[in-house]
Parts: sequence; structure tokens; C-alpha cells
Amino acid sequence: MTILTLNAGSSSLKFAVFSGTERPVRNFSGTMDRIGSSAPIFTMRDPESDHNEKVEMPKLDHEGCLGFLLEYLSETYGIDRYGAVGHRVVHGLDRYSQPQIVTEEMLEALRLMTPLAPEHLPAEISLIDDLRKQFPDLVQVACFDTAFHRDMPQTARLIPIPRRYEAEGIRRYGFHGLSYEYLMEELGRLGDRAAIQGRVILAHLGNGASLAAVRDGKSVDTSMGFTPTAGLMMSTRSGDLDPGVISFLMRDDQMTAPQFDHMVNHESGLVGVSESSSDMRDLLARESSDIKAAEAVSLFCYQAKKWIGSFTAALGGLDTLVFSGGIGENSPVVRERICDGLDFLGIELDEEQNMANRALISVRSASVRVRVINTDEEMMIARSVSRVLE
Ligand code: ADP
Repeated sequence: MTILTLNAGSSSLKFAVFSGTERPVRNFSGTMDRIGSSAPIFTMRDPESDHNEKVEMPKLDHEGCLGFLLEYLSETYGIDRYGAVGHRVVHGLDRYSQPQIVTEEMLEALRLMTPLAPEHLPAEISLIDDLRKQFPDLVQVACFDTAFHRDMPQTARLIPIPRRYEAEGIRRYGFHGLSYEYLMEELGRLGDRAAIQGRVILAHLGNGASLAAVRDGKSVDTSMGFTPTAGLMMSTRSGDLDPGVISFLMRDDQMTAPQFDHMVNHESGLVGVSESSSDMRDLLARESSDIKAAEAVSLFCYQAKKWIGSFTAALGGLDTLVFSGGIGENSPVVRERICDGLDFLGIELDEEQNMANRALISVRSASVRVRVINTDEEMMIARSVSRVLE
């Protein structure tokens, strides 16, 4: 069986094609970036034939990109039929806490949830809708990014504003769930005891970045909250903000809600502080000669360190720390700066192992195992599809 996975961001669409049902195997994968801009880029990797492709596409929205992709897969690989399509869906409210087959009722519920995730849900819904129109019998499975945090205790969910807002769904949900689920499965595969019983912090540090505190396999807290803009600063997102900044900007700067949304989602974080780039590689390359780039990197590492400290307190100690995401997987310098001075918590990196991006980077004598695991949200979607179909 062929499974297509779709992972839609506000201006990107990642996809992968898998075959097999019980243990899906990836055939190829790719990304469409800069959707909505004048020249979106289509990148495709086929590890088997070593065929890589990078083409500039015409200006298209998400639906247009899906059409482009289906045509490309049909023409290049002769794939015209899919056993199932799996979607990453950013928000499932309290209602959807497991991957599920998409129904008309679910689509209606997702449409109603759109104000909660205006950056992501519209594109995800449009892709599901479009596929339903084109292939009415196609099985589509929604995999929710909030689901991993379904067991978060009430104390970690509450936002300390008047109770009446809780009834409107204003509470902390947490995101990056597909990545976290994959990392926990990998931890189990590696034989790390803490995957089943123990205290784990998962640090997914990519363009979007968050951390999760996991006890005995279940999420007990996470840095993102009501929206994926919360928590740690990110490439272009602010992370947590003093509420006074918001009222000041709205009152004294006459900033509107859409302007504010744009600022905290697209102009803040690394790009906001550095005033030059949202890309960690660029900033590291420039930090010795550019004070703002250096400050952006410093702030990111400092905040990540604080989240690790606070989650270690919430967990009552720590057994395993996992770094993941583009920054967490590839940047020894950032990992080193985040962990620097945390030996009092039992976190001590082995310099050589860390520099080599090895899978286990803590010294043998440390009480906390520090690991680097390459996350794979697409694989998690494909596995979820296959489990739902079983
Ligand atoms: P997304 O959240 O969009 O999937 P990624 O997980 O691919 O993003 O992470 C992208 C980030 O990872 C960028 O900031 C990029 O600079 C950073 N990154 C990738 N490779 C390295 C590296 N070798 N050193 C430092 N940062 C890196």
C-alpha cells in the first residue's frame, strides 16, 4: 500500500511517500517552501535512486501545490493511487486525542477551531477538502499535534486568567506532538529505561521550537501553550511575552490584532533580535562580528536552559534529555551552551561526542543521559495511518 503524508505549515508543505502497511518504509520525500510568494521552491529527495530535484514552481497556494505534487508523482513515478493519506493537523482541541479517519463531522469541527490556529489550520483543511473532492473514496487520517499532551495535568493546562475563558477553550494545549511521539518511540527502541518509566525532557529545536517534560511516557508539561507561538523564542516567533507589552503596543502604538499576530509570529524571535536572519546557521557564522546576531543566539540558549531547569524541577529530577530538530540535531555549539553550567542537575556533555553529533553525548559518569535523535514527523504520521487502518 502507498501512503502519502502531508505536513502543511503556513508557507510550506512537506510530503513523503511510504510503502507497506505494518512497518511503513519511506520511498521518497520533499518540501515545497515559500508557498504564497512569487517563486515557491519544490525540493525532492529519492534516497534509492539518489535522485534529487529542486525546481521553481509557479505562484501557487497550498491546493495548487498539492495539484503540482500529485501530477509530479504521477508523471515521475507512475503513482496515481494512494491507499491512504495522512495529515499533520496542528490542533485537535480536547475532542481529538488520537489519530483518526477524517469524516465530514471532523472537518466541520476543524473549521470551527480555525480561530485557535489561524496560521496552520486553514491550509490543512484546504488540503483535506481538496483531496475529498478529487478522490471521494480515499481514506484520509488526521494526526493531531496536540494529542501527545492529552494527559497533561490540569495544573499545567490552566492559564491564570478568569475562569470564564477556560470554557471558551482558552487553556494550554501544547504542540510538536508528532515529533515528541516519534522521539519517545526511538527512546524505547534504543532501550532507554526512561522511555517507559522515568523523567525525560524532549527539546525539539527547529524553526519552531519547544520542550516537553515527560514522566513515565506521558507529557506532564510543555513550553508551547494555547498556541504554537508560546514558550521558547523561535526562528521568527517571540515565545512567551509579558502581557504588559501587548497592552502597551495596542494602546500606545495603536497596533491591531492582525498586526500583532504578524509581529509575534513572523518578525520576532531570532530574526527580531538579530535584525538579520531567522536561521541559526547564519547567526552562528556571524556572531563574532555582529553583536545583535550574538545576542540572538545567547538569548535562545539562555531561554532553553531555563526551560530545562524548570522542567527538571517539575519532574523532580531528570534521567534523559533529548535534543532534536534542525538546531538540536546539528549544532554542537548550541547544545553545549544550553547545557553549560547544568552539571548540578546531572547534565554533563562529552565534548568529543557532542562535537561529532553522536547519538549519546553525555559523559559516562553523568546521571542524565543526553541524546541526539533525528526526529521524523512524516514517519510518525505514516505509522499512525497504518495503526488506524489496522
Ligand atoms: P522546521 O521547524 O522548519 O522543520 P528544522 O527542524 O529544519 O526546521 O530546523 C531549522 C533550523 O535548524 C534553522 O535555524 C537552521 O539554521 C538550523 N540548523 C540546521 N543545521 C544546522 C547546523 N549545522 N548548525 C546550526 N543550526 C542548524
